[in-house]
Amino acid sequence: MVKTAVLVLLLGAAVTASAAEGPPMPALQTAADVRFEMGGAVRAYLDAITERWLLKVPDTNPAMLQMFADRDKQPCRNLLPWSGEFAGKYLTGAVGVLRLTGDQRLRAYLAAFVDRLLALQDADGYLGPFPRDARLTGRAPNIDGTTWDVWGHYHVMLGLLRWHAETGDRRALEGAARIGDLLCRTFLGPDKRILDVGEPDKNHAAIHGLCLLHRVTGEARYLTLANEILAEFACPGAGDYVRSALAGRDFYQCPKPRWESLHAVQGLAELHWLTGDADCRNALQHIWWSIVRLDRHPSGAFSSGEQAQGDPYHPGAVETCCTVAWVALSIDMLRLTGDPIVADELELATLNAVMGYQSRTGAWVTYNTPMDGVRQPSTEDIAFQKRPGSEEVNCCSANAPRGFGMLADWALLTDGRGLVLNWYGPSTMTTSVGGVAVVLRQRTQYPRRGKVVLEVSPERPAAFPLRLRIPHWSGATHVAVGGKAVPGVTPGTYLAIERRWTPGDTVEIDLDMSIRYWAGEGRCAGRAAIYRGPVLLAHEGEAQAIGFSPQWRQYGDLWAANAPGATAEHAFEGTGVRWLGRRFDDAGRARVTIDDREVAVVDQYGPTRGTPFAWERAGLGPGRHTLRLTILDDKAEASRDRFVNVVGFEALGPGGKWGGGEPVFDAASLDAGLVDVEGAAGPMVLVECKTADGRTVRLRDFATSGEDGRRYVSWLRVDNVHPVPFARDNPRRAALGDVP
Ligand SMILES: [Zn+2]
Repeated sequence: MVKTAVLVLLLGAAVTASAAEGPPMPALQTAADVRFEMGGAVRAYLDAITERWLLKVPDTNPAMLQMFADRDKQPCRNLLPWSGEFAGKYLTGAVGVLRLTGDQRLRAYLAAFVDRLLALQDADGYLGPFPRDARLTGRAPNIDGTTWDVWGHYHVMLGLLRWHAETGDRRALEGAARIGDLLCRTFLGPDKRILDVGEPDKNHAAIHGLCLLHRVTGEARYLTLANEILAEFACPGAGDYVRSALAGRDFYQCPKPRWESLHAVQGLAELHWLTGDADCRNALQHIWWSIVRLDRHPSGAFSSGEQAQGDPYHPGAVETCCTVAWVALSIDMLRLTGDPIVADELELATLNAVMGYQSRTGAWVTYNTPMDGVRQPSTEDIAFQKRPGSEEVNCCSANAPRGFGMLADWALLTDGRGLVLNWYGPSTMTTSVGGVAVVLRQRTQYPRRGKVVLEVSPERPAAFPLRLRIPHWSGATHVAVGGKAVPGVTPGTYLAIERRWTPGDTVEIDLDMSIRYWAGEGRCAGRAAIYRGPVLLAHEGEAQAIGFSPQWRQYGDLWAANAPGATAEHAFEGTGVRWLGRRFDDAGRARVTIDDREVAVVDQYGPTRGTPFAWERAGLGPGRHTLRLTILDDKAEASRDRFVNVVGFEALGPGGKWGGGEPVFDAASLDAGLVDVEGAAGPMVLVECKTADGRTVRLRDFATSGEDGRRYVSWLRVDNVHPVPFARDNPRRAALGDVP
């Protein structure tokens, strides 16, 4: 009888190679020859994106490539400063999705796309959309402002490198190298700076592409130019990422805290691995933690108003591109540190923010995915990016599939000795350890349920450590191998199971799906984000709770319009109504009627932008009423415009409590029970909860909330829960409800 030894090691972070052995190695790297067959909710997204977007968009939006062919034709196409990025963003995302599905139609389609793309590269390596005299100068006759031409080439280079890594297609690598050579001819050497062509927070992203290109080709000049860009960071007008971080400043305090900077910051990880520069490593880590603490929303999304603000409660738009860049940077942080808390962040972003920005139809994505609001297609929200021949393509729609595709870069990694499993969900992953093929198969309904049955099947018995991510939020996790409990399971660490694995071995993992809260502060005081395991929950309002006339647009968590005559209508039950919004120096006036009788003319003007505004009227008879706002031509003399805005309405309910239809929860008695859902069209997670006043209310996963156009809220009113300070082992500020 062979007794299997189960050796358990708890590792907070992997050991990196010592400096004496040459440049540092990543703590974690992509597992060898890894192949994925994803199932479950993520597979439904991947298939829909493949079918409704990746396999059609270059044909239905031909200008995505045609703009390159037409670069020197008159009259010039009217372009955006960043138009050159679309083809590269598309290719990068598509290759990632291909790695997760192995879809042969997509592989063939992308091969043809790469052929067409490479055929459009000029002899000098130029693969952008701007006329000859304008190339890489920052100026072009066919855009407003400054071109992001180097940035566009960065994305094309990245896409080509990803395609080369996936397929071994040498021509793609040669195309990427020709871009690298063009950048070196244009910018390498004294007195030639990328900074001088403007938009450095975008164009400096080339540092990342050049490092990747150097790693594949070994050509020294790409690394030399990358180091020159590193030096440029510190020049006046640039982002100063390294100095600012090493001085202890938060990312939002650096000169260029926009989201595009995150791709330049990715270059710091690559430079560290190439040169051993410790400042690069330390700066990246500081920036990453600053963002987690101050600029990552409870949904896992990064940014407010397209940049870091230093306030996770900031109401600015949460742009899709920002979350994609955040996931990309987080993967580098995970490889750099081996810290499983980073993988927890990647899961948080993927299951909530990424799935939240993507319509499950696969056909469209949002630009803005706020904590509270509605889902609106990017083609409407940022319609200013529409151009003839590429009506569906904008910065976000081109970028969004990458948020899913990057799962291939962190789901299963290696620490050099064994395997590191980060992704839980129905899937089959095939890799090899020490030359032995290993299949990891997960049978699970995760994240709907916390139980994961993991089959570990090497082709023949093999000894290696398997490290399992124990999420920091999983307070009580049970792990068993072959039915025998594994001791010492600690949240926020990797649990290493080191043994001789034999075909068909089974690991059972039971994750703790208890409800946790993030109690809000600042403008979210009195509200909380509610999590069940990794999934953020949201409440959907009644359909069409507010009827806006077509002139209204959504900005972050508020709706606004400035057209006289534009109306907003809200029906409510109660004896009073409260209109919530904000004061602005360009705000105007609205006539308020209740049940068709004018009750007030209200002025939202205020000299300080964004200060809270509330107007209320009580003393109505009980029952149902209709409030209507009509924007007036008349305005305060000091106001610069006539904008009227609405964050929401509240009704005065029984007992004199404001809130109306919005549920108020009590953390001491929430009692959330999982509701079974039939079919793939339903919520990913659905729970039934008790409200403070004893009603039964359903909450669903944030990712699919509001997909039918309803308004949703994920900063929910919760009593009896109190804010917990941010901590590195509790980055979601998780709190339990007060004990009754
Ligand atoms: Zn975007």
